[in-house]
Amino acid sequence: MKPAPFVLHKPGTIAEAVAHLAQIGDDCLVLAGGQSLVPMMALRVAYPSDLVDINGIEALRGISVEGDKLVIGATVRHARFYDPVEPGPLGKLLSGVVSHIAHHPIRERGTFCGSLAHADPASEWCLVAVTLGAKLKLVSQNGERLVAADDFIDGAMSTTREPDELLMEARLPLLGGSARAGFYEFNRRAGDFAIGMALAAYDEVDGVMRNVRIGLGGIEDRAARNAAAEAVLEGKAPAEALFADAGRAAAGSVDPMEDATTSADYRRDLSSVCVERALAAAASATK
Ligand SMILES: Cc1cc2nc3c(=O)[nH]c(=O)nc-3n(C[C@H](O)[C@H](O)[C@H](O)COP(=O)(O)OP(=O)(O)OC[C@H]3O[C@@H](n4cnc5c(N)ncnc54)[C@H](O)[C@@H]3O)c2cc1C
Repeated sequence: MKPAPFVLHKPGTIAEAVAHLAQIGDDCLVLAGGQSLVPMMALRVAYPSDLVDINGIEALRGISVEGDKLVIGATVRHARFYDPVEPGPLGKLLSGVVSHIAHHPIRERGTFCGSLAHADPASEWCLVAVTLGAKLKLVSQNGERLVAADDFIDGAMSTTREPDELLMEARLPLLGGSARAGFYEFNRRAGDFAIGMALAAYDEVDGVMRNVRIGLGGIEDRAARNAAAEAVLEGKAPAEALFADAGRAAAGSVDPMEDATTSADYRRDLSSVCVERALAAAASATK
């Protein structure tokens, strides 16, 4: 199928882009990598009257470290993360996670921020952003605002972005020298969306885990931290038996999605396995 007719705008600046969004309103969508939007338009799930293509805006292409944050511009592609984008544990974590997103051609066009704006419950970057406490910068003609990733994503394919706002950049906190981070994903074929995945991160201080962050993706209707698993781990020494306890705590506290191929009970069990394996990956990660 072909998309319904639309008008394409190709602004050269952020000011021009947000002017289009403000002028046209709800019927206007941002085009980033197009790896979700274009198929949705072809299937007529989405039929915007206007698209604002942000790929020509130089100011959105950058990725840089600013203080203790990694700042990722709106058109930074998934493939930029193949090699570590910074020398610490965060760069290494992102370079491991990216290989789970789709296939290479999609990674060459799809963007980090586009994934956040699309808010698929099984998006790896949504899981990373929510678990690590990213802040997202939104811009419109009325100015800029910073929103925590878990306030931005408010359900499956749903965000608190206003129609006139452009997601300009994501700001991910760097992981410190004592940080350990691990990721685990389960799907049936390489390149498929995750059925379940977990991200575990903590600081190892005097032999115990501090600042524990456990996030689950693909299980519930949005990526979310799991307080029950975190409570099991905080202040304890890393150990396999404890990781299994944390997995069970996660499974007991999630509200899993159900679909035609995967039951809620299956996803509940999977959440336990994912948490346990993400923790094992974190514990064995080299500093
Ligand atoms: C076969 C296939 C497999 C895939 N597998 C995975 C996977 O395993 N994991 C995964 O996470 N993703 C997967 N994807 C999706 C892919 O990662 C997309 O790149 C991503 O979801 C969207 O990024 P994009 O830049 O292509 O956004 P687009 O498709 O351009 O846009 C997606 C949505 O976000 C909005 N948007 C985009 N950027 C902005 C912005 N800066 N400001 C405001 N709104 C914006 C658009 O208007 C649109 O509504 C897959 C896609 C395909 C086709």
